[in-house]
Amino acid sequence: SSLVVAVDGTSGSGKSSTCRAVADRLGLRYLDTGAMYRAVAWWMLQHDVNIYEVNEVSAHAATPRLESGTDPLNPTITLDGVDVAVAIRSDAVNAAVSPVSAVPAVRARLVELQRAIIAGGGIVVEGRDIGSVVWPDAGLKVYLTADPAARAARRAAEAGSDDVTATQESLLHRDRIDSGRAVAPLTMPDGAVHIDTTDLTLDQVVDRVVSLATA
Ligand code: C5P
Repeated sequence: SSLVVAVDGTSGSGKSSTCRAVADRLGLRYLDTGAMYRAVAWWMLQHDVNIYEVNEVSAHAATPRLESGTDPLNPTITLDGVDVAVAIRSDAVNAAVSPVSAVPAVRARLVELQRAIIAGGGIVVEGRDIGSVVWPDAGLKVYLTADPAARAARRAAEAGSDDVTATQESLLHRDRIDSGRAVAPLTMPDGAVHIDTTDLTLDQVVDRVVSLATA
């Protein structure tokens, strides 16, 4: 299948679990574009780049060599050949990723890498700007949201944390930056199907997206 499924939405709305399961059920590849922004943010922190200085971040935007594996059962992300899948989920990266991804030079570089991967077709892609900017011609666009408390509870559970309040503050802070930035702000793309996952199980969301994709 050459189908491209674009899944956008807020942090903790269930995008990753949904996209991986949908890709697995439909025999499609899977791309986590958030992991790419996280990897670049991690690199900037490792190299003592001041992430609040747009010129500094821009100067290094093209430096790290980034590779994304697209197997939904085993998605991988490496930087200069080093596996960073675990490192990019740290609190430090959670705090750095939205400012870094607001820098136009970073977005330009990653959008180019993402388009090269998507061009092969047959893929479920998750992010914030996939249906709006990266691949507006996607055969199916989905926009996932959920109430902040539900999102925080899910993220905290994933991270093995019992501090749901801190998790909620961290993700609402990211949502504010992601929705307010000048370039490619988080928004519901034209033609997207909106699914509020607050009161749905993962299986229910997956079934819904699979039926939309096969309709
Ligand atoms: O999806 P995830 O929560 O891992 O994304 C981390 C951050 O990466 C988001 O909060 C956002 O700042 C950025 N991002 C983005 N555009 C995308 C995917 C992620 O700006 N397509």
